[in-house]
Parts: sequence; C-alpha cells; structure tokens
Amino acid sequence: MKAILISIGNELLSGKTVNTNATYISSKLHELGIETLRVVTIGDDAAEIQQQLQLALQQADVIITTGGLGPTHDDITKKAIVEFLGSHLIFKEEILHKIEERFRRRGSQMPAINRNQAMVPADAELIDNPVGTAPGLLFRRDGKMIFVLPGVPREMKAMMEDFILPLLKDQGKLEPIHVFQYRTTGIAESRIYEICHDLFEAHPQLEVAFLPRFIGVDIRILVKDSALQQMDYSRFERELYGRIGKYIYTTGTEELEAVVGRLLKEKGWTIAVAESCTGGLVQDRITNVSGSSGYFMGGMVTYSNDSKVKFLGVKPESLAAHGAVSEVVAREMARGIREAMGTDIGVSTTGIAGPTGGTPEKPVGLIYIGLATADTVVARRFVFVQDRRLNKELGAQAALEMVRRYLLGIPIDNDPSSKKESG
Ligand code: ATP
Ligand code: MG
Repeated sequence: MKAILISIGNELLSGKTVNTNATYISSKLHELGIETLRVVTIGDDAAEIQQQLQLALQQADVIITTGGLGPTHDDITKKAIVEFLGSHLIFKEEILHKIEERFRRRGSQMPAINRNQAMVPADAELIDNPVGTAPGLLFRRDGKMIFVLPGVPREMKAMMEDFILPLLKDQGKLEPIHVFQYRTTGIAESRIYEICHDLFEAHPQLEVAFLPRFIGVDIRILVKDSALQQMDYSRFERELYGRIGKYIYTTGTEELEAVVGRLLKEKGWTIAVAESCTGGLVQDRITNVSGSSGYFMGGMVTYSNDSKVKFLGVKPESLAAHGAVSEVVAREMARGIREAMGTDIGVSTTGIAGPTGGTPEKPVGLIYIGLATADTVVARRFVFVQDRRLNKELGAQAALEMVRRYLLGIPIDNDPSSKKESG
C-alpha cells in the first residue's frame, strides 16, 4: 500500500508554518508498513489541489490532504476536491447543531460563516472531529481512499488516531512493522557507523536509522514481521551490545536522567551535585524526573572560586596550582558536595563554556566531571564544542552518564586524565 500526502496552505509555502503534519502522518503510516511515495506542499489554490490529486490518484492507494478545511475565504480545499471528484455539497442539519453546540459550550455564538462547515460532500464519509468544528472527509474512488483533514495539528492527529490509522490497519494487507530503539550517548554517529556497519550490512532486512541529537544518537531499527520471524534478533542484539553496549542507556524512550534515577532507586542510593559551568543544568535534569526527591538531596551552583572554597572545601592551593577548571578541583568539588549533603554520590562539573575564556592549554569546551563515593573519587576530562549553550548541555549529559556508568560498573575512567584515589 502506497500513500501520497498533500499539505495545503499558503503559510507552509511562505515558511511561516513548519509542516509537522506531514512528518507525523508519514511516520505513523511507516509504522503500519505503508510507504509514503511523496509529500507535496502547495498553496491554497484550487487548480493546484486538483492537479496534485489527479497525479496522486495515478500512483497511490491512500491520499491524505491537510489544511484549508476551515470556514474562512482562504480555505478552499473542500470545494476544490468536491469539484474535482464530481461530487456536490449538501447541507447537514446535525453537523450545524454540533458546531453550534461547540460554540455554545464555550459561551459564544456561532459566527454565520461557520455554517459553511455544515455543507458536506454528498458521497463522503464524515470523520468526527472531537477537538474542532470541521469534520474530516473520506472519499472512496476505485478502491483508493482520499482523506481530507484539517490543518490544525491537534485536530488532524485526533482524526488519524481515532479513525484513519485503525481503518488502514484493518485493511488486512498490511504487515506489522517492529520498531527497536537504542539510545546512546558519548559516541558520535560516525563512530557508531564505523564500529557497526558490517553488522548492519549483514542484516539487510533491518532498516537502520541514526537519529542524532547533540547529546546523543538514537539508533532506530525497523523490521517487518515476516523478516523478524526468520531471523535470530536476540543474537543480532547481543552482537550490537558487544560492540557499543556501554553507550546504550535505554532501549525505551526515557531520558538519561530517568535511567539514572531508576538505578539510584534500585540501589537505594542518594546523590548531590556541585556545578560550575553547567550552572544548575544537571540539577534541572535530575529534577525533571517525578520522584527524584527520593534520591536527590540537593546541590549547589558554585560559580566563583570563593564559593568553591567556602561551601565545598576546595583547597585554595588546588585553585592556585591548577585553576578552577582542572581535574583536581573537579574531584574536590565532588567530594565536597557529597560530604556537605551526606549522600552516597557527589557529582561535579567545572569547565570553560565559552565563547571567551579559552587558552591554548584550556580551550573553550574543556569540562571536567568529578564523581565521589565513599571509596572512590574520579574525574574525567572532556573537550566539547565552541558554543556556550551546547557546552552546558553536553557537560550535564556527561555528568549524568558518568553516574549511570558508575552505578552499572561500566568503566568511566577510560581517559588518561582520570585517576583513582582513595578517601
Ligand atoms: P481551521 O478550521 O482552523 O481554519 P484549516 O483546516 O483551515 O482549519 P488551516 O487554516 O490550513 O487549517 O490551518 C490551521 C492551523 O494549522 C494554522 O495555524 C496552520 O499554521 C496550522 N497548519 C496547517 N497546516 C499545517 C501543517 N501541514 N503542519 C503544521 N501545522 C499546520
Ligand atoms: Mg489554511
């Protein structure tokens, strides 16, 4: 089964609105095993709409249009499609009542112009709009389906979920597609490719996509049901873990802070954070997780040298000898916050976020992450990028990842600058 999407709206062509509708629809179709042949974006123009519909009917089994279903003068989709398909509009009393009722519930009177929305094609099935006024339309022509949906993303999604996707799924010809996801951090997309490409190439039945974010790369693998039955997927997965397993923090959709929170809870451990260059971002992320009060005791943003000395017990000699952005100070900060808060783990960040303040020895993007427990104090050195905000994001991510690795016993001091010390 093949689909073509027609996104209608002048605002899409002028760049005022990002075409998120098409992205959403094509990804949902993809999950059902329906290939989207093409996404076309056109303006609110009747001739264009009819021309694209004609082309689409030659190639696709499912055509989905969005936009231009509203009651205003620029919304002409319904009229253009009805004309092209040789249908005609009829007035439906019950739709008018529904629309009037919607306005009444909101305490206002229906503008006369909304009467237009009660005019519907004589031979279309109406798709209920639970969150708006314009119903969606389904035309059937020669075994093909043409869905006509409003542009408002919330309304379009409601119709997709409640009506269209279940309907398409029931077509019977569709083979389910399985989706596996592996979220990684601390490894570049190109490096994953280098390490894994032969594994992926040996399994052409798997559709592998890398979805990079600044703080990590999600690997998404799609496989058709029949292909999955014929292969040993767990063996493939074991092989994948053997190569890049230590970078994978979840096979679900959760963020790293949620994984860290779960591990802390499982162990019954508590954590405290001392931040310099990340300015509180690590603590922001930790507290994004509901229930984090069970393990997060608190933290400090110690931005100046003085505050590092005064609140964390960082030694003035360490600052004088190594500077605030140093492995020694990162370790002292982690140990200091752990003792101050009485937690099992202390974590620290100190670095040069940029864009100014870098030197040849300590470039912009240099960040040390410290981690202290009852019997270990380590620090790890990173050099990230030139952008201030990104360095904060990457620093916070690295701090959380360091905790995750520590809790799972995955080596974290694979960098020559990290040391282990007792106390
Ligand atoms: P309405 O009843 O609100 O007039 P409509 O079907 O006429 O609905 P449009 O007027 O085309 O829809 O768009 C309504 C809103 O939805 C606008 O804010 C528009 O920016 C947004 N929108 C339209 N098409 C898309 C799209 N493809 N992706 C994301 N947003 C969209
Ligand atoms: Mg419009």
